[in-house]
Amino acid sequence: MSKKMLKFVNLNKQNPKKRIVGERKTDFNEIYGEFIKDKAKEQSSRCSQCGVPFCQIHCPLGNNIPDWLKLTAEGRLKEAYEISQSTNNMPEVCGRICPQDRLCEGNCVIEQSGHGTVTIGSIEKYITDTAWEKGWVKSVKVKRELKQSIGIIGSGPAGMACAEELRKSGYQVTIYDRYDRPGGLLIYGIPNFKLEKFIVERRTQLLKESGIKFVQNFEVGKDKTLYELKEKHDAILIATGVYKARDINISGHDLQNIFPAMEFLTASNRKGLGDKVKLFDDGTLDAKGKNVVVIGGGDTAMDCVRTSIRQKAKSVKCIYRRDRENMPGSTREVENAIEEGIEFVWLTNPKSFIGDKTVNAVEVNKMKLGLPDSSGRRKPEVEIGSEYKIPADLVIKSLGFDPENIPKLFNAEELSISQWGTIKINLKSMQTNLDGVFAAGDIVRGASLVVWAIRDGRDAAEQIEKYLQLKSNKDKSIKAA
Ligand SMILES: Cc1cc2nc3c(=O)[nH]c(=O)nc-3n(C[C@H](O)[C@H](O)[C@H](O)COP(=O)(O)OP(=O)(O)OC[C@H]3O[C@@H](n4cnc5c(N)ncnc54)[C@H](O)[C@@H]3O)c2cc1C
Ligand code: SF4
Repeated sequence: MSKKMLKFVNLNKQNPKKRIVGERKTDFNEIYGEFIKDKAKEQSSRCSQCGVPFCQIHCPLGNNIPDWLKLTAEGRLKEAYEISQSTNNMPEVCGRICPQDRLCEGNCVIEQSGHGTVTIGSIEKYITDTAWEKGWVKSVKVKRELKQSIGIIGSGPAGMACAEELRKSGYQVTIYDRYDRPGGLLIYGIPNFKLEKFIVERRTQLLKESGIKFVQNFEVGKDKTLYELKEKHDAILIATGVYKARDINISGHDLQNIFPAMEFLTASNRKGLGDKVKLFDDGTLDAKGKNVVVIGGGDTAMDCVRTSIRQKAKSVKCIYRRDRENMPGSTREVENAIEEGIEFVWLTNPKSFIGDKTVNAVEVNKMKLGLPDSSGRRKPEVEIGSEYKIPADLVIKSLGFDPENIPKLFNAEELSISQWGTIKINLKSMQTNLDGVFAAGDIVRGASLVVWAIRDGRDAAEQIEKYLQLKSNKDKSIKAA
C-alpha cells in the first residue's frame, strides 16, 4: 500500500482512534479515506435489509437506500446509481456533506443495535463518483420543448434542483444569481475540504448542457424588480437563501480584523478557485500565523475553525456560551475539529473586543447554565467577576444567519413574510401570496441543510408544473371560447 493510501486509512472515519491528530490535508479524502470498491461492497453488504427502512424514512429525500446498498453489494453499480439519482439531483454532494449522524446513518438499525452504522453517505458518494467517472451521468435530453418559461432567483441547491426537474419536463428555465459563479453556499460557503469545488462546477456544467440558462452577476431588486422579472416568465421561484449575519454589538466591535464568517469563508473558497482576493492576499483574511478566535457553536463555526487550522493559524479557539452537549452543530463536526487540535472554550461569552485600531484580545465572561427558557434549553448566565482575556489577531463571528428583507430588496412590499423574515408559502402549493411566485430552500425554512434545499426545489418544481398546466389549460379554454 502506498504511503498516501496508508494516510487515508489512518484518517478513515471507521477507525477514529487510529486517526492522526492534527493531520491536515486538503480534500475530502481526509475525512472519509479512500473509499475503495472493496470497502463499498463490504459496507453495503452489512445492510441487514431490515424491512423497516428507518434510514430511508429519515432521509429528507426518501432515498431508496436499502435497494442501492443491495445492488452495490452485488457489484451492480450502474443500477445502484440509477436508483440513487432518481430521488436526488446531487447524490455526490449529499454523500459528502449531509450530517448523516442526524439523518440516515443515525437511524440505521445496525447503529441502533450498537454495531456501528452502515456508512450510507460514503457509499452514496462512491456510487455517484463512479457514475461520473464511467460517463453514466447525463444531461437532460428534452423530448418535447414547451414554450412556458420559469425564472429562478438563486442558483443554490434549491434553485438548481428545481431547474433540473422543470427542464426534464421540457420547460424553458433561466436561473438568475447575484454571484459571479453558480452554486450558492455550495460554492462560496461550504469549504473545499468538505466539498471540492469541481464537484459543484461539474453539476452546473451539466445543467447548462441540459439547456438551462444561467445569468450571473444579476441581483434581483437592483438589476430588475421582482415584477419586471415576473413579466418575462410564466412563473418565478425565489430560492435566495439566508445571508444576513447575526452580529454582536459589544464594546470594540468596530476594531479591525473582526469579520463575519461568510466573509472569511468566501475569501478562502475564492482563493481555492484561483481568484485574486485583496483582503486575503494582503494577509488580512489569512489565518496563517495568527491567534484566531471563532465565536459560535454551529456548523459554520466548525467550518471556520477547521479552515483556520488548514491555513496554518498559530492557535484556534472556539468560544461558545453553552456546553458541549448543547452545541447546535453536528457532533461529528465537533469531533473532527477536536481531533485537528482546535481548542473549545465552552460556557464562555464575549464581553468586549480589546485593541488599538486592530483587535488583540477578546475579553470573555465565564457562563453557567440556568433554568430552561421558553425554548426548553437551559439559559446561559454570566458568572459575575469571571472576566479574562483571550489573545486574538483575527476574530470570526459565526452566530447564525437571518433572511434579508426580501420584500424591500425586491421592491415587492406585498410579498408576505413570517415573523422571522422568511418567505411565507402555502405549504401544499409552495406558492407565496403573489400569483405565480413560488419559494423554496433556506429563504422559506431559515438556515437549514443542502438535502432539504434539494427536497424543496424538487417539490417546488412539481407544484410549478401543476400551476403552469392549469394556466395553459385555462388559456386554451379562453381561446376556444
Ligand atoms: C458555511 C456553511 C456551511 C454549511 N455546511 C453545510 C453542510 O456541511 N451540510 C449541509 O447540508 N448544509 C450546510 N450548510 C447549509 C446549506 O449550505 C444551505 O442550507 C443550502 O445551501 C441552502 O440552499 P438554498 O438554495 O436555499 O440557498 P443558497 O445555497 O444560499 O443559494 C442562494 C443563492 O441565491 C442568490 N441570491 C440571493 N439573493 C439574490 C438576489 N437578490 N438576486 C439574485 N440572486 C440572489 C445567492 O447569491 C445564492 O447563490 C452550510 C451553510 C453554511 C453557511
Ligand atoms: S441524501 Fe443525505 S440523508 Fe439522504 S441518504 Fe444521502 S447522505 Fe443520507
